[in-house]
Amino acid sequence: MTTVKDRVTLETAPSAIDTVGDAWVVQNPRFGAEGTHYHTYGLLTPYFKGLTEGRLIGTACVNAACPISQGTGELWLPPRADCPDCHQPMAWREVGDARGYIYSYTQVVRGGTGLEIECPYYQIDVKIEGVGTILKSYLLDRTPIKIGDRVRAKFRTGADATHTCLDLCWELGD
Ligand SMILES: [Zn+2]
Repeated sequence: MTTVKDRVTLETAPSAIDTVGDAWVVQNPRFGAEGTHYHTYGLLTPYFKGLTEGRLIGTACVNAACPISQGTGELWLPPRADCPDCHQPMAWREVGDARGYIYSYTQVVRGGTGLEIECPYYQIDVKIEGVGTILKSYLLDRTPIKIGDRVRAKFRTGADATHTCLDLCWELGD
């Protein structure tokens, strides 16, 4: 079986993970001898954990008093810890069907310093049924594409996981 790792080369080493409470603290050695970049995912940790388990999860406002969602908000991806409209904590929900279509795209032929994905590749914006936001990610396929093409989520899981947003990518297909 072809894995994500077989289909794209990332110019990054998997980040080590520390935990403080429920939050991941990521240690990314991206600066080589100059040092390691430490940052926490804080309240968004469940999203990044989910990617490493092959699960796509977002957040939705469930506050009945929210002026916009009235407690029945659509999913946000990437997630937000708190609703931007009522500022209350949002609830975690799994995306039932991690498929969608290409809403827009850019072909990246030559990346700038620090780009971690092997070029050329497509940076895509994905529209997913039931998700209110458009998610930016990248496509594994390198053949010509067009707006509206169907895509499905793929994940870097287990030992292949980078513990970053790069653990989510997409491939053409229904
Ligand atoms: Zn709200």
